[in-house]
Amino acid sequence: MRILIVEDNRMTRRMLERYLQALGYEVLQASSGEQALQLHRQHRVPFVITDWEMPGMSGLELVRRIRESQDGTYTYVVFLTAREGKADLVTGIGAGADDYLRKPFDKDELAVRVRAGQRIVELQERLERVAETDALTGLWNRRGLERWFADPQGGPQLAEEAFAFVIGDIDHFKRVNDERGHAAGDEVLRLIADSLAAGFPPGARVVRVGGEEFLAVFPAASATLAMAATEAVRATVEARPLEVGHGEPLRLTCSFGVFVATPGSGIPDLQDAQFQADRALYRSKAEGRNRVTLAD
Ligand code: GH3
Ligand code: MG
Ligand code: MG
Ligand code: MG
Repeated sequence: MRILIVEDNRMTRRMLERYLQALGYEVLQASSGEQALQLHRQHRVPFVITDWEMPGMSGLELVRRIRESQDGTYTYVVFLTAREGKADLVTGIGAGADDYLRKPFDKDELAVRVRAGQRIVELQERLERVAETDALTGLWNRRGLERWFADPQGGPQLAEEAFAFVIGDIDHFKRVNDERGHAAGDEVLRLIADSLAAGFPPGARVVRVGGEEFLAVFPAASATLAMAATEAVRATVEARPLEVGHGEPLRLTCSFGVFVATPGSGIPDLQDAQFQADRALYRSKAEGRNRVTLAD
């Protein structure tokens, strides 16, 4: 786990750094509240240990700012301060800190309190992952896609390159449910999801956006390359016999619609890109399925 130490006293900072590193934590350091906020924004640090009194922005103000800026991910904050009155503890935790330690600190106490905070951080991360994952296929779900897309360090940062949005839909999937049962249908969804996850270029986000509908989002230098990558995935799905239940292995296909946002045109709008890819998918279906169509 990554911990940000915020402390204006160099000696104390060094001591904390060495101690936390010895416990196996990765340590970032800031000597002021301002610097801490910047690092927190850049690196998404889940754990902050902060001094209270510092020149410029105080630890108290820092805690308030971190709480204001929270965007779904949680930051666990511990005060480490020479202030020892009960009223300070109440103010500090009231402002949003999770824990409060007094200087000079006891190493063992610091270690167990950091461990306790780490449990919360890890639980939070696990919940986030579950909330962004499709339970049946293990792919990202729509929520995961939307959050990644809205994240300044997520999807849009890749928009300097052309950016491909590919919607894939299993052809005649309903027949699988009708002829083999719903459990076999689920198994097919899993197998095809695996093919899609493995088939799109590394770095692609592959998302289950609906029942038997998937979206892959990835940077691609050109529409031609995005089309070639998708065509390869289509061929892989077509060629793969799907072992489900007892009967003969199934052979299924997918239809695809590809929209490519051009570089230099800014961050593509997710809804709009999906709409365009969907229209191209519709043409793939209308023209006989098992094909890849580029949005015009
Ligand atoms: P098309 O080629 O036009 O896409 O035909 P299709 O049969 O694939 O499409 P349609 O939209 O008619 O049917 C999709 C089916 O997918 C209907 C629905 O019951 C089934 N489905 C949706 N989600 C799940 C799921 O989680 N598990 C299973 N087994 N079936 C699902
Ligand atoms: Mg200080
Ligand atoms: Mg379908
Ligand atoms: Mg569909």
